[in-house]
Amino acid sequence: MPTDGTARAPEGARREEILERLRALRAADAPTHGGRVLSYVYDSGRAELDQLAAAAAAQMQAVNGLDPTTFTSVAVLEREVVGFARELLGGDDEVVGSVTSGGTESCLLAVKTARDLWRAAGGVGTPRVVAPVTVHAAFRKAAKLFGAAFDGVPVSPETGTVGASAIVERLGDDVALVVVSAPSYPFAALDPVVEVAAACRDAGIACHVDACIGGWILPFWVDDDGAPLSSWNLSVPGVTSLSADLHKYGYAPKGVSVLLHRGRDRHRAQYFATTDWPGYPVVNPTLLGSKSAGALAAAWAIIQALGAEGFGELAAQCLHATWVLRNVIERIEGLRVMGEPVGPLLAVAVDESVPPERRVDPHHWADAVRASGWILQQQPGLVQSDGVRLPHTTHLTITPVTESKLGELSPVLSAAADAVRGIPAVSPADVLNALPGGGAAVPQDAAALDSDSAAALLGGLGLLGGANGALPEQMAPFLALIEALPHPVSERLLTELLARVVEPRPAP
Ligand SMILES: *Cc1c(COP(=O)(O)O)cnc(C)c1O
Repeated sequence: MPTDGTARAPEGARREEILERLRALRAADAPTHGGRVLSYVYDSGRAELDQLAAAAAAQMQAVNGLDPTTFTSVAVLEREVVGFARELLGGDDEVVGSVTSGGTESCLLAVKTARDLWRAAGGVGTPRVVAPVTVHAAFRKAAKLFGAAFDGVPVSPETGTVGASAIVERLGDDVALVVVSAPSYPFAALDPVVEVAAACRDAGIACHVDACIGGWILPFWVDDDGAPLSSWNLSVPGVTSLSADLHKYGYAPKGVSVLLHRGRDRHRAQYFATTDWPGYPVVNPTLLGSKSAGALAAAWAIIQALGAEGFGELAAQCLHATWVLRNVIERIEGLRVMGEPVGPLLAVAVDESVPPERRVDPHHWADAVRASGWILQQQPGLVQSDGVRLPHTTHLTITPVTESKLGELSPVLSAAADAVRGIPAVSPADVLNALPGGGAAVPQDAAALDSDSAAALLGGLGLLGGANGALPEQMAPFLALIEALPHPVSERLLTELLARVVEPRPAP
């Protein structure tokens, strides 16, 4: 780097050196393309779409999305993206909305908007957000950030679904928002949108459909009989808002989602505006101030290129791949697919209907699959408020590129199950006892952990010090530990782990 303090363009060789280091770092990442990572990334399998997105984002590199009256392109792109989304998602011309930086921001703003409207309508005290426990964690985050209470409704441990009545019986004057998912991330359950939204409407309560993962693909989904899905979007009376991520099945680079509201006044409640400082008048529809318009432009370009027809073709590839993988997994003795998944997601649990020696633990299975170079996502079990435990599962997100990889992936899934069949799940108690000092060494109270003691515990677990923050190869014990610890303790340890990963290190 120049040491004389001048800002100058790096010379050719230096430029190459910089980019070479980045390439080397990127080479160590899990692969973002090719279908080997079945979560986090959404590969359309069409290189020309990625190139189009990159070119569109590059054109916006220097733009500040903060002010669409100065950078008028931003207004046009956002208007067209919201317009396309509204039509796709059952909205009429009373539906308006915003482009946000991602699903979490859309969910946060849905809660903030509902809370502010609830207060404006006379709500006092702590507002409540009611949702199935399977609703995305972003809603727990929103409740925490915006001073609401999160009320998680238990779901069935067999199917991951919830009946409408279990949600409706919790409605009351203190409820600012009810959230249902289309579908839920953990189990791909399509919540009872029609019934819940109708009850919310009768009670004058806002109802959000979290279609972050489903929004850009369920419009093209069909059930096992080939019939389109029954109503789940803004066409349903009583649904007041809906979120849908473009950086998932919109195939855009990370950083773009839409949040739609029924009614202009509801949308306006999302905004923050102030003229109460000596700087420029601030009007923020979303959480950020200055912001990139790169991902917006990329999403817009992909929408122009694909149109509904193109999205439909990619959805058909996902549908086919999901159907095949579901059948492959259902034929594996000892595993079961949770419930009736709706959309390109599967959650896989142990099949307890077969004798223990024939069962396959889904986390050992995922570890064995990973050893063959495919990354599935392990989800911990959860004890719900009614005491009923949801099983730990392994999650697969299926994308268009998966279809071309079925021939490679399917035998890997079966062989991995054969390799671990009969091995019991890691016992959380055993993991605790294996710690230096045994389970007694683990504090039951997160407040007793400071950064150093948390790091010492992680070190004892072999979880610190991996190259570039990489995790161990066997993740099943780690997931068991998460389940065994009191949640505030595991949350503190995970915070420590992720914070240590980004701490500056002494030069080698
Ligand atoms: C991904 C997801 C979110 C959160 O989105 P991010 O883009 O990761 O912030 C919310 N809800 C559901 C159902 C999701 O799948």
